[in-house]
Amino acid sequence: MSLQLPEPVQWVMKQLQEHGYPCFLVGGCVRDYLLDRAIHDYDMATAATPAQMLECFDATQCKIIQTGIRHGTLTVIYHQMSMEITTFRKELAYEQHRRPKQVVFCDSLISDLARRDFTINAMAYHPAYGLIDPFNGQQDIKQRIIRCVGSSSQRFEEDALRILRSLRFSFQLRFEIAADCRNAIVQQAKWISCISKERIRYEFDLMLMSDVPSLLSHLREYGVLTYILPELSLLYDLSQESKWHIYDAFQHTDIALDHTKGLSLTEKLAVVCHDLGKAVSKTMDEQGQAHFYGHPKHSADLAKQALQTLTYPKKIIQEIVTLIYYHDATLQPKASTMRKLLAHADMDYDLAGKLLRVMEADDLAKNPATANAKLQTVQACQALLETMKKSEPVLRRSDLAINGHDLIKLGYQGKQIGNILNDLYQMVLEQPQRNTRDTLFALVKQHHLDEKHNANTSSRS
Ligand code: ATP
Ligand code: MG
Repeated sequence: MSLQLPEPVQWVMKQLQEHGYPCFLVGGCVRDYLLDRAIHDYDMATAATPAQMLECFDATQCKIIQTGIRHGTLTVIYHQMSMEITTFRKELAYEQHRRPKQVVFCDSLISDLARRDFTINAMAYHPAYGLIDPFNGQQDIKQRIIRCVGSSSQRFEEDALRILRSLRFSFQLRFEIAADCRNAIVQQAKWISCISKERIRYEFDLMLMSDVPSLLSHLREYGVLTYILPELSLLYDLSQESKWHIYDAFQHTDIALDHTKGLSLTEKLAVVCHDLGKAVSKTMDEQGQAHFYGHPKHSADLAKQALQTLTYPKKIIQEIVTLIYYHDATLQPKASTMRKLLAHADMDYDLAGKLLRVMEADDLAKNPATANAKLQTVQACQALLETMKKSEPVLRRSDLAINGHDLIKLGYQGKQIGNILNDLYQMVLEQPQRNTRDTLFALVKQHHLDEKHNANTSSRS
């Protein structure tokens, strides 16, 4: 086997080699080369200690970053390519199911490979020596199997992040997980609670983006989902006695997620969380039909909490909350409805498009006999929104032809002003040609009368 190495990688290897330190490519890049996947970073391992490595590089020729140096990692940037070089190491004992208590540098590549998580990640490559594969990673790649280096249960107990990584790689690569490894996942899933939320989120994102079918059911079967998004267990076996549904709320969510292939992380997370509030909002009527009144709001609240716990950035959470809050809105393929939908999405065409795609995924996971009409409406709305995006300028509330000062001059004050502007905005979204000062003043007058009228009738009742 002969790998075509990028020029900066060859340069780094040469610098170390010339100082007497052989240097090997290790981990993901070797695996991805054998899988014929795009290689996103070249990690290297060498016998040189960090101090010895520093002596190999001329700082005028490359940039050296020493942040990982305590763990034996040096980052070298050469010709805009960033490469990590790590001293061969062994991990002695682990603590709290995550961190090695003690790391020792060693001069053996084989020991370094032995501390790595899976056979497919425990191979090295050197242009002169070819593939170094002491744990039969190449065979497992051929057979498409994720297998731990050594005893699965010991490796998971040492570091529970490996549990999430094994599942993540199996989803990304569409590999089977070896039987003993599967058993160990179920046995040791509880140690995931020792993993930082940031790392859990990182792995969950990659799982979601893998587009593997039935993701949530797989994670549930392994007993792992409860350590990622415990809120989803509210939906386990939650029946939906309704003409719209043929699945329970959890199955429905998982199937809806299956219909998000190629979509963004935001849309996928919105689908995952869109019905979280169904458990708390479920009621049964006298005919034995289930209702979930107000569930979008409950779901949005629960999602916000859950996603904050998982340390998602504020902006993503905000978008997801909007998508969930409006996922059940009634649609009509009319420009006025689309403008109102856009207003919900902060006049952001992209976000409104996401909302329609979340609604589509939701409808695709319902009873086709009843939900097909809804689905067609959503799809017609998607086409309409696309057309409007090309032809209609965005209309914000601040674009109204009159403002608060105009209303003050007419004698309005306080809360009334905001309420009237809101009403006018809705009327303008309905018919944008209304947005002239004359028409809006006329509408205000009428609105004013209506308000008086309402006040009179309500005081009479
Ligand atoms: P990718 O970057 O494509 O997600 P990767 O295999 O390169 O996959 P990294 O997190 O970049 O993953 O890790 C680089 C290598 O370090 C892995 O291939 C593996 O050999 C080793 N490794 C990473 N995390 C662990 C871990 N928790 N336990 C043991 N070895 C690990
Ligand atoms: Mg990597």
